[in-house]
Amino acid sequence: MSDRGHAPGRSSLGAEKDGYRGRLVLVTGAAGFIGSHLVDALVERGARVRALDNLATGSKENLSHRMGEIEYMEGDIRTMETCRRACEGAFFVFHQAALGSVPRSFADPATTFGVNVAGTANVFAAARDAKVRRVIYASSSSVYGDSEKLPKREGEEGKPISPYALSKAMDEDLAAIFGRCYGMELIGLRYFNVYGPRQDPDGPYAAVIPRFFKAYFAGEAPVIYGDGEQSRDFTFVEDAVEANLLAAGALPAACGRAYNVAGGRRITVNELASLVREAVGGGPDPRHEAPRPGDVRHSLADLSLCARELAYAPAVELAEGIARSRRHYDEVSVSSHPRRVAPESASGG
Ligand code: NAD
Repeated sequence: MSDRGHAPGRSSLGAEKDGYRGRLVLVTGAAGFIGSHLVDALVERGARVRALDNLATGSKENLSHRMGEIEYMEGDIRTMETCRRACEGAFFVFHQAALGSVPRSFADPATTFGVNVAGTANVFAAARDAKVRRVIYASSSSVYGDSEKLPKREGEEGKPISPYALSKAMDEDLAAIFGRCYGMELIGLRYFNVYGPRQDPDGPYAAVIPRFFKAYFAGEAPVIYGDGEQSRDFTFVEDAVEANLLAAGALPAACGRAYNVAGGRRITVNELASLVREAVGGGPDPRHEAPRPGDVRHSLADLSLCARELAYAPAVELAEGIARSRRHYDEVSVSSHPRRVAPESASGG
């Protein structure tokens, strides 16, 4: 994990570099892709980490190297009592638990809403009762919905075009209400297609980059849904983690909003396939299948609000992020050790 400065002098809660030492923080969805990297960063900064997950899509393997250092709690955010126990004594809550993936939300909207909305309401209410100092929660670029404006700017959202997107938009409304009604400090982070080591390559809901790595390592043609000219703004997981740390330390005036968190550059899915193919050292041309419902055509974040209010700037270029991901997927040899059902889709971002 890179050690960036966390805007010394801007921080209000002592969350800069050493400010976590001895503090209890809760990470929900901690056994997942982003959550487990966040746990690493927080442990490295001296925090006492409570890690909550029900292993719906995450894996204990993602935390195995931390098990002696954290308080691991298996439980479901849909259960209020679990959320209460998880929030007890916590200074910060980093709420990552959710069911990702646009296609999954089309297949099973009720479960997506149950976890992403009712579960999030439980986490926020438990955080209120436990007097948690600040809640940072995962939103998504999917809240921009049918807006065709580029770049995507906070305040210029369209209508959601999938149950997943609506669940994340509802989380933002929930956060606004908890801020307004209870004076809580909450900050949302609208992740744009996060990728990197530990992102699950398996299952029907796997995200595009791990799917491409898996296919190319197996010598197979990766599947592209649609013509591949749809574009995405990819965010390396370390940058997403950094945004969480910056949000925890930001001035109170930064609370009550959701910010874009992205790599700040857009490439097409066809270009992405070429990049992954080169990284792996060659492979067949991609195979095209019908586009999937709920797929946003183009995505690119405007990062000026996040830069101004949170001092966020992406640090890991796509080429470097792809190289680091390649090393990971090479090590775990995705082709020979299939794992379990997966998280976010290419469109889910
Ligand atoms: P992930 O699936 O790897 O992580 C989510 C974690 O939440 C998993 O470990 C899962 O087991 C856990 N979880 C699910 N339901 C739960 C429940 N009911 N109770 C407790 N834990 C539960 O996905 P991720 O990519 O790490 O995503 C983390 C967050 O970021 C999610 O809120 C997701 O919607 C959001 N997000 C991710 C991306 C991305 O590109 N990866 C983009 C936008 C938003």
